[in-house]
Amino acid sequence: MFRGILIEKDDSGYRAAVKEISEDQLPEGDVVVKNIFSTLNYKDALAITGKGPVVRRFPMVPGIDLVGVVESSENPLYKPGDTVILNGWGVGENHWGGLAEKTRLKGEWLIPLPKEFTPLQAMSIGTAGYTAMLCIIRLEQLGITPDKGEVVVTGASGGVGSIAVSILSKLGYEVVAVSGRDAERGFFLSGLGAREILPRSEFDSPGRPLGRERWAAAIDVVGGHTLANICATMKYRGVIAACGLAGGMEFPSTVAPFILRGVTLAGVDSVMCPREERIEAWRRLAQDLDPAKLKQIGNMISLDESIAYAEKIMEGNMQGRVVVDLS
Ligand code: NDP
Repeated sequence: MFRGILIEKDDSGYRAAVKEISEDQLPEGDVVVKNIFSTLNYKDALAITGKGPVVRRFPMVPGIDLVGVVESSENPLYKPGDTVILNGWGVGENHWGGLAEKTRLKGEWLIPLPKEFTPLQAMSIGTAGYTAMLCIIRLEQLGITPDKGEVVVTGASGGVGSIAVSILSKLGYEVVAVSGRDAERGFFLSGLGAREILPRSEFDSPGRPLGRERWAAAIDVVGGHTLANICATMKYRGVIAACGLAGGMEFPSTVAPFILRGVTLAGVDSVMCPREERIEAWRRLAQDLDPAKLKQIGNMISLDESIAYAEKIMEGNMQGRVVVDLS
């Protein structure tokens, strides 16, 4: 038996609780991993609280990230004792995820832990950090360089945002953070390298189709009016990497920024991203993210605290990343 969060849905409703799970309940797969750490992402918070349609089958163990040690393997890529990480692939949605002491997975979803990172650092990065890196790579592929001008990052004190701010500033970009947080958290964002912090309230209500051109590039995790207002204030040929919906699913924009200013809106998905691109993103994280920043970004909690923390994330009351200790 091992412990894990189990989400159930039946006639008595939707609920998540820490339970004892037996090994023969584990889903199909060719690699069994003894988990060391998992994380709580916005998506895990939606799954645990039931506030978003993340879980596709029940019962489900949530957790879209994990790092652990291979216990047994029928996959030639892995042998017992290897340390591996997993981000996405529908784990924690369709297939039991990382918020348990043990998981059985498909070996093709795993990648070896990069030698530059400890298991704790890898999870302080997690899906959020790997997605931030995918966004930055996308901006680069579309011609963005530090000399082009300011880069705006929304939802900046969350997981994706805080790591995006850290990497962009290390790469020499002038980073402007958009955050709904108070001054104390502004201090957090300045410490990560943001040159300026703008309040969320300047972005999250209806605006004009076009405004003053300001941003060379943007990373948006918020969606809704925030994304529409960013589109309207991009510089000529600016590029936006859009990856989130923390402020809503809608996109109340017009075509004006795209047809009059040649703005590019690039979507970024981490879940089904091909393996080679994941390995490249993790290589870039090792190169371009200052590990000292991870200490500022990471919060460590236990499995038993995870359900209460999922509520905190939904209330927008967390800063940085939440790592769950399973060892
Ligand atoms: P977090 O909860 O860590 O951070 C989200 C941040 O968004 C918050 O910290 C807050 O930042 C801001 N925010 C929260 N609520 C609102 C609101 N109502 N309006 C405006 N801003 C808000 O989440 P993650 O960083 O893990 O994820 C961010 C988004 O990106 C989520 O929507 C998530 O689903 C998505 N995502 C998508 C991925 C993909 O593959 N496309 C992968 C990973 C995440 P502040 O207080 O600073 O304003």
